[in-house]
Amino acid sequence: MTVTWEELGWERLAPGVGRCRLPGWDCTVGLVLGAGTALVVDAGSSPAEGERLRTWAQQLAGHGVTHLALTHPHFDHVFGTAAFAGVRTYAAVGTDAVFAYEREELRRDAVRHGLPEADAAAAVAALAAPRHLVSGEWTLDLGDGRQVLLANVGPGHTAHDLAVLVPGSVSGTREIVFCGDLVEESGEPQAGPDAVPSRWPDALDRLLALGGEDALYVPGHGAVVDAVFVRRQRDELAARFGVS
Ligand SMILES: [Zn+2]
Repeated sequence: MTVTWEELGWERLAPGVGRCRLPGWDCTVGLVLGAGTALVVDAGSSPAEGERLRTWAQQLAGHGVTHLALTHPHFDHVFGTAAFAGVRTYAAVGTDAVFAYEREELRRDAVRHGLPEADAAAAVAALAAPRHLVSGEWTLDLGDGRQVLLANVGPGHTAHDLAVLVPGSVSGTREIVFCGDLVEESGEPQAGPDAVPSRWPDALDRLLALGGEDALYVPGHGAVVDAVFVRRQRDELAARFGVS
């Protein structure tokens, strides 16, 4: 028997769609279930956390995880990828180069944010380049009439921002957009040295065009928000970075 979302501490957003707010950095991980398929959105902040996520996803799905989408190459979203060996992994084009050539920066950033040295070293050693690199948009058919759109909407928070759109249904389920850290609710959007501030407002315009007015927008950190919130954050970022 499969467990319920609530029993595992996940938030159910629609039938077969939910997310979990992880401890530590309040990072969101998503799960979208199809017919014998399961798409996990982001992998957690360490190999051990990735293992935990994969187990939870399997319990919720009643079968194995088949797909993984990484919203952007920051440690709290990707250091669990080692636990997803054999899973079809998607990320924005260029993520492969970050994983290949910027491992030391990723490791240092994780340690600076409080990840134990050993976990950071293990995660970096096990980082595998995502097989499927998305430029533009990519439709994933998860079966059972469930199609999910992966959209390379950046640059913004990083040069490699991928959003995941789960379309609404005729029965009235709302669109759901997993935004990665292009949107944050629990704090100010974090702009590190790898951010592309001048392009960030445009990325949020693309995100809004993708989800529309009625979508549920799931930020990388914090509570689920609506289009009004995303538009306000877009305007605040534009003012903060001096772009229109
Ligand atoms: Zn980030």
